[in-house]
Amino acid sequence: MSISDFSIDRVSAAKRRISGIARKTPLLNSPSLSTRTGSQIFLKLENLQLTGAFKLRGAANKLLSLSDEQRARGVITVSSGNHGRAVAHVARKLGVEATICVPKTVPENKIRAIQALGAELLVVGEDADAAMVYADDLSAERQMTMVHPFDDLTVIAGQGTIGLELMEEKPDLDTVIVPLSGGGLMSGIAYAVNAIKPDIHVVGVSMERGPAMVESLKAGRVVEIIEEPTLADALAGGLNKDNRYTLPMVQQYVDETVLVSEDEIAKGILYCLKEEHMVVEGGGAVGISALLSEKVKKLGENVAVVLSGGNIPMQVLKEIIAGGDGA
Ligand SMILES: *Cc1c(COP(=O)(O)O)cnc(C)c1O
Repeated sequence: MSISDFSIDRVSAAKRRISGIARKTPLLNSPSLSTRTGSQIFLKLENLQLTGAFKLRGAANKLLSLSDEQRARGVITVSSGNHGRAVAHVARKLGVEATICVPKTVPENKIRAIQALGAELLVVGEDADAAMVYADDLSAERQMTMVHPFDDLTVIAGQGTIGLELMEEKPDLDTVIVPLSGGGLMSGIAYAVNAIKPDIHVVGVSMERGPAMVESLKAGRVVEIIEEPTLADALAGGLNKDNRYTLPMVQQYVDETVLVSEDEIAKGILYCLKEEHMVVEGGGAVGISALLSEKVKKLGENVAVVLSGGNIPMQVLKEIIAGGDGA
């Protein structure tokens, strides 16, 4: 399959397909961020998605699109945590066997959540790229379908359903801010909102520590990065070397990228807690971080910020609260 086969109809079909599994999440105006920025800011609450992150959408679309024979053989994936949990959740619902490969860097809370869903969990490799090599081999050996965390058009169509929900609920959006790692979330959303409103401004946000997609955009090809520990663990990891879809889609549909520091990520998480009364993980809070640090160059009048997940370890949350000003 090539990118030219992708269409807004595939995203619409995904929306119908996953409606029994994934939640339509709320889009809420944030008075405090609106006052601060002078724009109307709306938060898309994927931290309230089942399994705690948007990844359920892509996983559901992929597994529901498999043939009976593929379902019978089972699925395999590699994940920094949230994707594995989503695949395990959908696999259990559909009675499909799932094998989830995670690198050693995945936090304990995400590992436990995957195991609780009954999937086979293999901790393999020092980082996400090493785990992917292992999973690819195992997928061929066991003839299980690989559910790629981002570079798969069916997964991308699932994530794109967020873009459809945004434009249906708020047709006058002119800016969308999205966390950016492998780019499955971004490719789906950016494609969908551009299809509906070609002049919309799309902003991707990554962390300064190992921003694989942003480095690859600069170089015009996949660049390997060294994975570093970050509060935005869900954004860590590289692009796959043979990237087929997300790099070209991000190149085509994303207008601006922003990098945020660890301190800015912590401030974003704390802001969500204090002002929005919401638990958001580091990778989910980077859009807020970008707004608070005033790093977004072009902010329109009506801005959606995707809060992509809420699976933060309690220990990390405790440390961030302890590091705040206590007010
Ligand atoms: C996976 C993930 C992302 C990044 O998604 P990509 O498709 O890899 O860009 C962002 N936030 C959270 C919470 C995630 O789990």
